[in-house]
Amino acid sequence: MFRKVLIANRGEVAVRIIRACEELGIKTVAIYSEVDTRSLHVKKADEAYLIPGDPIRAYLDYVRIVDLAKSVGADAIHPGYGFLAENADFARYCQKRGIVFIGPKPEHIELFGDKVKAKQMMQKLGIPTIPGSPEPLRNYEDALHYAREIGFPVILKSAFGGGGRGMRVVRTPEELPHLFESAYREAETFFGKGDLFLEKYLDDPKHIEVQILGDKYGNVVHLGERDCSIQRKHQKIIEITPCPVLPPSIRNKMLGLSVRAMMQVGYESAGTLEFLVDLKTGEFYFIEMNTRLQVEHTITEMVTGIDIVETMIRIAMGEPLPFMQNDITFRGCAIEFRINAEDPRKNFAPAPGKITAYYSPGGPGIRMDAGVYKDYVIPPYYDSMIAKMSVWALSWERAVARARRAIDEFVVRGVPTNIPLHRQVVRDPDFISGYFGIRFLEKKLPTYQ
Ligand code: ADP
Repeated sequence: MFRKVLIANRGEVAVRIIRACEELGIKTVAIYSEVDTRSLHVKKADEAYLIPGDPIRAYLDYVRIVDLAKSVGADAIHPGYGFLAENADFARYCQKRGIVFIGPKPEHIELFGDKVKAKQMMQKLGIPTIPGSPEPLRNYEDALHYAREIGFPVILKSAFGGGGRGMRVVRTPEELPHLFESAYREAETFFGKGDLFLEKYLDDPKHIEVQILGDKYGNVVHLGERDCSIQRKHQKIIEITPCPVLPPSIRNKMLGLSVRAMMQVGYESAGTLEFLVDLKTGEFYFIEMNTRLQVEHTITEMVTGIDIVETMIRIAMGEPLPFMQNDITFRGCAIEFRINAEDPRKNFAPAPGKITAYYSPGGPGIRMDAGVYKDYVIPPYYDSMIAKMSVWALSWERAVARARRAIDEFVVRGVPTNIPLHRQVVRDPDFISGYFGIRFLEKKLPTYQ
């Protein structure tokens, strides 16, 4: 058993990992930047160390973080999500310095971090992918060539991207030059590499993803799927498990193919295969794989009873998976709501500031994962997500009713949040029907007050 784990992250996910460690009897080490002195993860960890200087670099400077881990006697590092979580060099560097990286093998982080290579790999493993350019686009002419071949509309995507950045939907050839330019620039700014590829743009499919766990001995299981179609600007806002309207034949095929592919590559730790699903044709297509803990893992934990973070730690320690596929049962339905500090009147721009009142919902079936509290000042440097509200009930209908009750109980004052938006969504008949796609919010937002 590890004695001490360093958490290379902040906010709610750092708190989540500290909780798993506490239950396992593992001591925790937090790191924090100058602006995070009063953060919850700093208060919760057994030890906390300031990384002075730039507030973002504090969580990215891995040589310094590994030095610290060594000097305080930590055995392993959990990266959470974001920051260093999908940095293969960091995972390798941990290995080199004799610190266990709690996550997948570096070569898998690298392979799946390149979306073009990941698609080629999945194709080889028999998983359907969306028609697109077979390699990164060299220039705008290249893009036009493939867009004509595939047919408009197409979507330009950053090969090394995430968080919906560097993505542009292109409907006509005339739009292509300036959208190519702006996507390239955005990708370069955020990811250091501007490389783009393109795909056929699917019309309002569902985003469905499969949660995978693998150990060091070739065992791989799935923990079901999540419907992450409620998005804004290609970023998830609400996630559901199971998808309330997915036909069992599609579900079984997706889950089966995902497990088989991950067994073939020898995948280790937690991972998520993301698909777009066209419910009209029953076709599904792989889009990318995330080689880390996902924000929305909470709902999978609620319906399976499995602690995904604990399992990642056990796998990293070399334990075999404590369950086989047949041992895993799925009970009821769970929905996660991402609570973001953002201003709906200013096009959902991040709204940092002081929380003057904070009352989170409770009662049956509610799970809160928060990184904030009353009087906490949200710094302007990081993600605007301050909390996650996850709701569980025996059926989709009852989960929606419970979500309505819980989101109405939620009070955050001092900063604007997207709570009013969630209140509208959980009352929307099209949401309640379950038959919505990734463009749901784009279509609905103008109709909400
Ligand atoms: P990121 O890594 O930035 O999150 P993804 O490849 O996971 O990028 O895609 C994010 C979202 O963008 C998807 O959930 C979906 O809403 C949209 N998207 C991506 N590819 C397509 C496509 N080919 N057609 C339609 N929408 C797409």
